[in-house]
Amino acid sequence: MKISNDINEAAFWLSQNKVVAIPTETVYGLAANIYNEAAVNSIYKIKNRPSNNPLIVHIKSTRELYKYVENIPVKASLLAKYFWPGPLTLVLKKAAHIPDYITSNKDTVAIRVPAHPATLKLLESLLFPLAAPSANPSNSVSSTTAQHVLDYFGDKLPFILDGGSCAKGLESTIVGFEKGEPIIYRLGALSIEHIERVIGKVEIRNNATQSPDAPGMFSKHYAPKTPLYITNDLETFLTENNTTNIAFLGFDKSLSHSKITQNYLLSAEGNYDEAATNLYKTLIEIDSKNFDLIVTQYLPEIDLGKSINDRLSRAAFKIN
Ligand code: AMP
Ligand code: MG
Repeated sequence: MKISNDINEAAFWLSQNKVVAIPTETVYGLAANIYNEAAVNSIYKIKNRPSNNPLIVHIKSTRELYKYVENIPVKASLLAKYFWPGPLTLVLKKAAHIPDYITSNKDTVAIRVPAHPATLKLLESLLFPLAAPSANPSNSVSSTTAQHVLDYFGDKLPFILDGGSCAKGLESTIVGFEKGEPIIYRLGALSIEHIERVIGKVEIRNNATQSPDAPGMFSKHYAPKTPLYITNDLETFLTENNTTNIAFLGFDKSLSHSKITQNYLLSAEGNYDEAATNLYKTLIEIDSKNFDLIVTQYLPEIDLGKSINDRLSRAAFKIN
């Protein structure tokens, strides 16, 4: 296993049909050639990902979109034009040459142009796009540094392309279309406010019961090992709870209480982008200590506060 910023070496391993970890602006990905079934199967195996959970295809430029999909709705073109490269995934009708093992046999494919300079250079140097789900075992917190990937997968990968800390720190926002109209399947690093400024009102359908088509939306996902509790009444929660070694995960304000061992703030300045960037790395750091539990509150439902709240509720052991 090697970690380095050498793009040529990453390209070498990918061309040998190996799985390589790559940096993106959202989270690190486990990447493979979309046209090599054995390599794509290895992604599923390494992550222990159910085969009915399709992968996102990463392409090198917006210009290339038409090669991989058919019938692009006007609103999809607009979104691609405004937000690519960037943390937006579009689900569109797939071209015939996109293999069924990428899409879990669906006739649509999830696709995006990532905004990380190293990964864009890497894609430029390859003759194929990359399938790349997040670089974490299924259902656990996504990696936002090369070290996180190393800690999760150690020798299961030949190579990790180190691109530093992920700028966004949260998965892409996924937008699909029905009759040309947009539907948000997953909240993510591009806020709804940004999307609506470009294409007007969008519907949100982001849980498994509403949208069995997007398996990443199952309610238990992104969970730390330490049980996470979300409460809107901290005082009662702390009074009634018997444990004394508690980590408080706060947005911008610390909490002083005898049962709180340590405070972790997502953004002391109350900035939603910064809070999103810090969410996973903070959860992973808390997990590396021995707290009995984590307690937190929802952020205001503004901007990326919505996406952060979505991840918190999927990470939660209990909400009350
Ligand atoms: P990940 O790469 O782990 O962030 O997960 C990718 C997610 O994209 C999946 O969990 C699905 O929810 C979604 N996705 C991928 N392909 C499709 C598709 N064809 N239709 C709907 N959702 C998709
Ligand atoms: Mg994931």
